[in-house]
This record gives sequence, C-alpha cells and structure tokens, in this order.
Amino acid sequence: MKVKCPTCRREHEYDVNSPWRPFCSERCKLIDLGQWASEAYVIKGAPGSADPDVLVEQLEKLQREQEEADEKAQNGRRHR
Ligand SMILES: [Zn+2]
Repeated sequence: MKVKCPTCRREHEYDVNSPWRPFCSERCKLIDLGQWASEAYVIKGAPGSADPDVLVEQLEKLQREQEEADEKAQNGRRHR
C-alpha cells in the first residue's frame, strides 16, 4: 500500500512493521515531532544559528538527501 509521508509528502510503501510509520523514515518522524532542529544542528555541526530561514534550508537539504537515500533503498528492494 502506498501512502504519503506527512513530512515530505512523498509516496512510499506503507510498512506495518515500520517503527516510524506513517512516515517514510525515522528522519521524517523526527522532523514531524519537532526534534529535527536540534538533531539537524548536531549532525551538521552548525550550532548557534536559530534563524528560521536557515532551519528551512537545512530541512530541505535533509529531505533531498532523504530522497536520494530512499531511491537507492527502493532500487535495492526490487531485487528481493
Ligand atoms: Zn518522508
């Protein structure tokens, strides 16, 4: 079953066993929970700037990386 991720709005395969359903990934779940700001800055190593525009830029960058990772993962799953 295909569902739309509430965070990135991309369609993905709904997995009842997924700990982060209905999101496509753990990252999207964290983003939705509002934890993404602190998480992103820990990962990116850019503390101190709480500018909303910067946060949105960081978020969009994370989503692009997520999309690329998901595409690779989906290509891999087809081989099962
Ligand atoms: Zn998502």
